[in-house]
Amino acid sequence: MQEQFKTSLSGDYKSDPKDNFGLLEHEYDEEISDKTWQLLRDDVIRAIDNFRGSEFWKKAKTLPQEDCLALEGDLKGSDNIWKSISPDLTTWNNLPSAPAADSFSVDGIKVWVKIDFAYRKQDGSISLIDWKSGNSKEEPDPTQLNIYGYYASEVWDIPEEKINLTAYNVNQGEQYDRTFSEEGKQETEEKILNSVENMKEMLVNREENEAEEEDFPKEENYSFCRHCRYRQVCKPELVE
Ligand code: SF4
Repeated sequence: MQEQFKTSLSGDYKSDPKDNFGLLEHEYDEEISDKTWQLLRDDVIRAIDNFRGSEFWKKAKTLPQEDCLALEGDLKGSDNIWKSISPDLTTWNNLPSAPAADSFSVDGIKVWVKIDFAYRKQDGSISLIDWKSGNSKEEPDPTQLNIYGYYASEVWDIPEEKINLTAYNVNQGEQYDRTFSEEGKQETEEKILNSVENMKEMLVNREENEAEEEDFPKEENYSFCRHCRYRQVCKPELVE
């Protein structure tokens, strides 16, 4: 965090955004009090502590490789996010042996997934976990997990009732469990197809995937725009 903060403050991201970290707060010259930074830092430390104290961290480290179905998507060798958490990857015996497919198809539509963690249990069921980091104490919207459940049923060929879905909020240390079902799969399929249809309805040319900018009017509520990350390009009058 400290390194990224320094990099952002230097402004290097303006000339080379691909390789340099940039914070919205620096881009928009926003005043952030020391107390706020401290609270954000505390949030991160608490999330890491919760994560490392959770059963999932323990599970991820001790699981036999053949039972590990996915860990942060497909790991593409050892050059991945886990390196920054656990530099010595030779201690990890459980990284999935083969990359997991990162998409599935619904009615010819490609749907991408990046599963945080999934593993097989002894009774043939699987657990599929999604890490969350928000501040809400509410149960997260199940759509994302249901889509992962759909993926597990289609790609890994697991019966729906053997797919256990868990959202684990590292910030709150809270865990929300549910079991997938045939009805859940049906609902998820409808949701995906409806969502795609809603987007396609906005196109002027569905075959060519073309839209007209004027079909997407700008938000009129300025108080909403005042916090939008795109305001510099969309409503520069708010920034000047
Ligand atoms: S500034 Fe953001 S919220 Fe407002 S119209 Fe533009 S994109 Fe939408």
